[in-house]
Amino acid sequence: MIRKPGYLKLLEKGELAERIRDLKKLLEACRLGGRRCGVNRLAGERGYCGAGKLPEAASFCVHRGEEPVLTGNLGVGNVFLGRCNMKCVFCQNHSISQPEEPILSDWSSSAAKIAEELLQFQKQGCPTAGFVSPTHYAPQIFEAIALAAERGFRLPVIYNTNGYDSMELLTLLDGMVDIYLPDFKYWNSSYANIYSDAQDYPETAMESIREMYRQVGALQTDTAGTAVRGLIIRLLVLPDGISGTGEVLRFIADELGNDTFISLMSQYYPAFNARSVPELARKLRPEEYAEAVRVLEELGFENGWVQDPLTSPDSYLPRIDFTL
Ligand code: SF4
Repeated sequence: MIRKPGYLKLLEKGELAERIRDLKKLLEACRLGGRRCGVNRLAGERGYCGAGKLPEAASFCVHRGEEPVLTGNLGVGNVFLGRCNMKCVFCQNHSISQPEEPILSDWSSSAAKIAEELLQFQKQGCPTAGFVSPTHYAPQIFEAIALAAERGFRLPVIYNTNGYDSMELLTLLDGMVDIYLPDFKYWNSSYANIYSDAQDYPETAMESIREMYRQVGALQTDTAGTAVRGLIIRLLVLPDGISGTGEVLRFIADELGNDTFISLMSQYYPAFNARSVPELARKLRPEEYAEAVRVLEELGFENGWVQDPLTSPDSYLPRIDFTL
């Protein structure tokens, strides 16, 4: 199936520029993330995430370690955005999400620079382009996509988020994102508070994921088997049942259906500050992951990926070892 990316359809209808203007207005009293700090980022104020007016891109790289349906033969052309609107104690990506000066000063970017990198990804043959932790820079990202689209950019865009996005933001992204790739990190709000400083995360993620599914529906692929549109939900299984993966799977089965694509991840290890949190200071046990797989099967999920529970990757890259 050949499918035109959503942002391109909006560009052709003459609606993309107006949508980006509306997105930028959210920066005047920032309501991009679930936290809704209300700071005026266009006037130099910074909220919880610390993000400002200009985007900060920690890296641009072709990334093979994502789900196979996203990578094709080459890999996703990924833009890793600096900072985050959550503070997970176990963040495997903490050098990017919770950095300190002087690192940050090297990441200052612009819509024009990001547009140039997107065009390079396309030239190299990447089948998709991804934005990792996009929420706090969504207006700037879509400004970059619009600039690139005017110069011939046509790749499906992946919005790879922690799920802590505001409805105001997601409503404006309707028709702009091709593939939503959210996490659903916790079922329990106390755990979300203790380990990520985001007490309202579970209800925000539920609401966000319902909206993402409403916008893009089930995953669709082209004739080469590469994703062009749809939703994939990533579930990282945490030790001691902290992620509540069984409850999250029941929610997805009940509300979205068991044909939803799930990426069930076993790669937890005590990164960053988790070493000082006793219940998180160990790797996931194979039997804990096996229990999550058991629930997945019991609920009849057939689409997605599970990982080999015995692999212990020492990086944040997902290792996708076999499909269901
Ligand atoms: S993106 Fe979220 S955390 Fe950052 S300033 Fe805006 S509302 Fe606050």
